[in-house]
Amino acid sequence: MSIVIEQESCNGCGRCLAVCPGALLCANAKGRAEIRYPADCWSCAACVKSCARGAIALYSAPACGGRGGLLRARREGEILHWVISLPDGTQRTISVDRRSANRY
Ligand code: SF4
Ligand code: SF4
Repeated sequence: MSIVIEQESCNGCGRCLAVCPGALLCANAKGRAEIRYPADCWSCAACVKSCARGAIALYSAPACGGRGGLLRARREGEILHWVISLPDGTQRTISVDRRSANRY
């Protein structure tokens, strides 16, 4: 599993580069984020949550037991919405109150 970075949505703010625990992300020649070593990504989703523009999605590959969907995060105050887009066009959203995150 790895991430997908939508280049047209990235503004090069660099937040995702700063939070990746494996330092797997870098800025490309256009100043936008890209992943250098996709095989080393352990899908922690830190970069997904850090991107205020929703430019990063976590890909759940069928070969790894996923369903080929994309997981994006959207913040609304203290609420974090996880939006799952499946290949059949359906979407599901799971909303988590970050203030209660340790109680789940
Ligand atoms: S956090 Fe989002 S907008 Fe900022 S550099 Fe990363 S992908 Fe681009
Ligand atoms: S999901 Fe985690 S390990 Fe993978 S690129 Fe993003 S921050 Fe790095």
